[in-house]
Amino acid sequence: MIRSLQRGHAPNCSSSGSVVGAALLSTAGAAVIVNAFAWRFLRWLEGGSPPGGEPPRLRQEGEEALLSDAEGSIAVLDAEGAEAARERGVVEVGGGQPVPGALTAPTEVHLAITDRCPVRCAGCYLEAGPQGQDRPLDGLVAELDALSAMGVLELAFGGGEVLLRPDLLDLLDEARARGMRPNLTSSGFGLSPELARALRDRVGQVNISLDGLGAIYRRVRGFEGAELGLRAIRTLSEAGVRVGVNTVLTRPLLEEEGALAALGEAIAQAGASEWQWLRFKPAGRGAEVYEQMVPSPAQAQALWPAALALEQSTGLVLRFDCAMMPFLVSHQPPLEALQRLAVRGCPGGHSLWARGVDGGWAPCSFVPGEAVQDPAQAWREQPTLLAWRERAQAPPEPCASCEYREICRGGCRVVAAFRGQPMAADPECPRVILWAA
Ligand code: SF4
Ligand code: SF4
Repeated sequence: MIRSLQRGHAPNCSSSGSVVGAALLSTAGAAVIVNAFAWRFLRWLEGGSPPGGEPPRLRQEGEEALLSDAEGSIAVLDAEGAEAARERGVVEVGGGQPVPGALTAPTEVHLAITDRCPVRCAGCYLEAGPQGQDRPLDGLVAELDALSAMGVLELAFGGGEVLLRPDLLDLLDEARARGMRPNLTSSGFGLSPELARALRDRVGQVNISLDGLGAIYRRVRGFEGAELGLRAIRTLSEAGVRVGVNTVLTRPLLEEEGALAALGEAIAQAGASEWQWLRFKPAGRGAEVYEQMVPSPAQAQALWPAALALEQSTGLVLRFDCAMMPFLVSHQPPLEALQRLAVRGCPGGHSLWARGVDGGWAPCSFVPGEAVQDPAQAWREQPTLLAWRERAQAPPEPCASCEYREICRGGCRVVAAFRGQPMAADPECPRVILWAA
């Protein structure tokens, strides 16, 4: 009935991350997580309340269907499961026959709603700063109309500092009124207890960007912001908002012994429930500092064991972002567990689409966008999306012969482009490095 499950999307600067903790150590672990959702789903089918108190949304994808609940789980259902869900009562959105190499529509769209920010972080991929501007609300609402008509399930609003938009609550209400679940990423600027309470019933989750404690945060981002981030986690948590943390993994954070563990302990104590690790992307101002920030191959290889240990010591749910997949699959976790938990690399152009602050649309947030007249048509036909899909379906070696190709999808195009060949295999993948040696 349920073929796979992506539990609880977490917004971040790049894409929804995948659960990568102990559940991957055995197929039984993955089954336990899938069954937790299956149990709620079955209770709902038998007359119980739907997860999150709202009817789930269902989108047909050819023979299968996506079921999205209000708590942020997305399950892939077979025909029997879809029929049972329909009988119980779902909100049908979009759907139809998937386009070659992609879903009928993105499950998630990233919308950069501002490039205004009180600070100018050294690695900001959006090049945000005090000179930035909020994107006008009326233009964003028109885009929400188009995305809702396509059957998009989730939105990630990012920037810039999204909490400083004076009309943020209006924008969130507009998204929810169109049946889409908005999530936010913030550094914590502008958050008050009142705003946190107002966010509680409007967002699925807020992720606070926190790239280290004390001097490490300053080295990575260029200002003292760790306390701001920790305070924001506490404020959101006390207001009952589901809160996660995004940490971009950098050499300064990983080279100081104990720094990652201390960060995990601090964010768990502050009240976060999830901790998502992101790969540093050479985009925007990030390209200028990439060589100083990118972890060494040995540091990258040590990440998954560290994630397993920290998940156990902190109680946080650990996630890796889309670009981290080569560093996960190099440890050869069970393929079936990866599939059942819908662990996925590079969703750009397949299930993810991004609209930059300049209004351009791109396969993901870290590549330049292009003007689009009709989003639904562009999703089917835009040449850049077609090229990304073709590349994911027919990757070059060593991805072509990689056992984890379906999961990883060839690694990160942004890193490959930075190293010179956008459609090449991810040059920092351990298997690619070995292949080239
Ligand atoms: S290119 Fe792919 S893997 Fe890299 S950040 Fe974009 S969506 Fe993620
Ligand atoms: S070889 Fe390619 S598909 Fe396999 S893990 Fe590396 S980047 Fe991913």
